[in-house]
Amino acid sequence: MADRSPEKSSPVYVIGGGPGGLAAAAALSHRGIHAVVLEKSDAVAASWRNHYDRLHLHTTRRLSALPGLPIPRSYGRWVGRDDVVRYLERYVEHHRLDVVTGVEVSRIDRSADDSEWVLRATGGRALSSPVAVVATGFNHTPRLPDWPGRAGYTGELLHAAHYRNPRPFEGRDVLVVGVGNTGAEIAVDLVEGGAARVRLAIRTVPHILRRSTAGWPAQATGILVRRLPRRAVDRAARVMCRVSMPDLTEHGLPWPDTGLYTRVREGAIPVQDVGLVDTVRTGRVEVVSAVDSFDLDKVVLADGSRIGPEVVIAATGYRRGLEELVGHLGVLDDRGRPLPHGRRTLKGAPGLHFTGYTNPISGMLRELAIDARKIARTVARTTA
Ligand SMILES: Cc1cc2nc3c(=O)[nH]c(=O)nc-3n(C[C@H](O)[C@H](O)[C@H](O)COP(=O)(O)OP(=O)(O)OC[C@H]3O[C@@H](n4cnc5c(N)ncnc54)[C@H](O)[C@@H]3O)c2cc1C
Repeated sequence: MADRSPEKSSPVYVIGGGPGGLAAAAALSHRGIHAVVLEKSDAVAASWRNHYDRLHLHTTRRLSALPGLPIPRSYGRWVGRDDVVRYLERYVEHHRLDVVTGVEVSRIDRSADDSEWVLRATGGRALSSPVAVVATGFNHTPRLPDWPGRAGYTGELLHAAHYRNPRPFEGRDVLVVGVGNTGAEIAVDLVEGGAARVRLAIRTVPHILRRSTAGWPAQATGILVRRLPRRAVDRAARVMCRVSMPDLTEHGLPWPDTGLYTRVREGAIPVQDVGLVDTVRTGRVEVVSAVDSFDLDKVVLADGSRIGPEVVIAATGYRRGLEELVGHLGVLDDRGRPLPHGRRTLKGAPGLHFTGYTNPISGMLRELAIDARKIARTVARTTA
């Protein structure tokens, strides 16, 4: 173990108290390295506390655990949102993690003598350490497209990040925009929760998979195929989808014309079916074309039609939001994603690790756990 006790050196600062940051801190402390987690909200697991009520992991309990603590069997195979929060709270206690809440890191700079990182944080703090782990989340800042006419829209418009449950939308006409896992699940939730009409606006037809087939989880397939050549996986997935899914072409969801793994590589993971297929097939969710613009009380779609929902819920994704924090360090690509990842750091930014900025087909929690161990091993080796 590396001897890096708090008395002898500054701790490793981990920015973000979500699963990624907590996993990194636990893996570091397992190697005798003192890590301090800085969390901007008033508790760990902030993003999970704010997710919609019906959310369950689409990755299995066993393949979603973080280093050093299994998720309790009693939480079931598909762990619910509240149990994810409970697990993360227990995780902090179990590993006795040093978490400081209410501290937001706004900028990271190199020290004047180029020996360490200086973290500018809430209350004028300047925290220094040769090693820092950035774990502020893939889903950091809700992304609302700048649709023409948006500002003058007279209906209700909200981002999916602010959707909790269908109660406020009972008896109302709702348009959900975007068909990632979140948009698909919110559309189903609205139908089951009594919305009068639910439409789903789609730009690119998604790949839809069963969460599990005969007990075999889609995630396990994702793990098996992730190192295989893209075209081979695309071909196999095409066959698998056509065998296991009904043809929804006449309901507005034709088979995608791009390969599943090709789309994953572009950043779009497949939609796991938790009711979308059935609600589309039975007409309870109507598929419409993408949103083009807004015109007072109307939404103008890409096919030229104009519809008048009372509410628009934009499940249009998130930005990483790393520009202010580290944009000046030359560590981001042109889409705002970190160039280094996990144990790898950039030559010009030694000791600055990033975790959780990819969207892998094998499950992000699983990858966060793997990255945490690798980061800890690298930090232990370089600081020994
Ligand atoms: C709806 C949804 C469902 C998902 N389901 C699954 C699933 O089933 N299986 C799976 O493997 N993955 C899933 N994921 C993906 C991923 O596992 C989660 O998003 C997970 O929470 C990512 O963990 P994280 O620690 O990287 O980020 P987050 O959980 O977002 O945590 C980041 C933390 O950093 C804090 N923070 C941000 N900026 C700062 C700052 N400047 N200073 C201090 N603190 C800061 C935030 O408050 C937050 O607590 C899902 C994601 C979403 C959005």
